[in-house]
Amino acid sequence: MAEAAPSRWRDATIRAITPATPRVKSFRFDALGAPHRAGQHVDVRLTAPDGYQAQRSYSIASAPGDPRGLELMIERLEGGEVSGFFDAIAEVGDTIEIRGPIGSFAWEAGDGGPVLLIGGGSGVVPLLAMVRERALRAPQVPMLLLYSVRTAAEAIARGELTARSRDETGFDLTLLLTREGPTTGRRIDRVMIDTAIECLGMPRHSFVCGSNAFVGTVADLLVDAGVRPATIRTERFGE
Ligand SMILES: Cc1cc2nc3c(=O)[nH]c(=O)nc-3n(C[C@H](O)[C@H](O)[C@H](O)COP(=O)(O)OP(=O)(O)OC[C@H]3O[C@@H](n4cnc5c(N)ncnc54)[C@H](O)[C@@H]3O)c2cc1C
Repeated sequence: MAEAAPSRWRDATIRAITPATPRVKSFRFDALGAPHRAGQHVDVRLTAPDGYQAQRSYSIASAPGDPRGLELMIERLEGGEVSGFFDAIAEVGDTIEIRGPIGSFAWEAGDGGPVLLIGGGSGVVPLLAMVRERALRAPQVPMLLLYSVRTAAEAIARGELTARSRDETGFDLTLLLTREGPTTGRRIDRVMIDTAIECLGMPRHSFVCGSNAFVGTVADLLVDAGVRPATIRTERFGE
């Protein structure tokens, strides 16, 4: 069977909606027509009855080939046009226009490691796909996820990530809570980067995802810490 072109819009039906955190919901769709690499995203397009269209990008949270289909995790933003639709209106059975997979922010088993993943807030979503991909196809690859989020309740897939770091040899999780507990007010800093590199080894690949400011700061810290710029890939979700 011919694979669907990633640039072509196609209808995808929402198969399941599950709350992931108080502000984030997980949406399961039918599998994409084309295989994706962990870390890539799709574009989603909504069309109002009067023809008005809104288009946004959402990272794929599921590992390639997940038999449960394609998972997106969408955070509700105040006044958010598209995230507000997904939060309050979208229902199981609805059909949404999707195209993809898109992007070079991607890691696959054959790329090897060590792999350093650094995410802020919902920026963890594409990194989650990489963690899942590693578990399925490359459990020998050392991987460390440094995840900065306001509170434990807001941490996406906290239970899964914690269990993986406990059960999967070679995968480590450092969760930084910036508005709760003893690390309140702390941001990812040079000490945290150095500690991560000490634990993981010098990364062969680094992936940084989050807000513009988060990504800029973290990428600079990585370069300061001696990580080769050519090995650092970044994805910016917006403000
Ligand atoms: C490659 C890529 C992948 C992405 N993956 C995800 C994902 O997996 N999950 C997810 O929830 N989002 C993701 N985003 C962000 C997403 O595309 C939208 O920008 C977000 O959902 C806001 O759209 P909206 O229509 O709800 O808000 P809008 O109506 O566009 O904006 C509403 C308000 O929110 C502000 N705003 C817009 N975007 C952001 C933002 N990213 N952060 C903070 N404030 C913002 C606006 O300034 C405005 O005040 C991704 C973005 C990119 C570029």
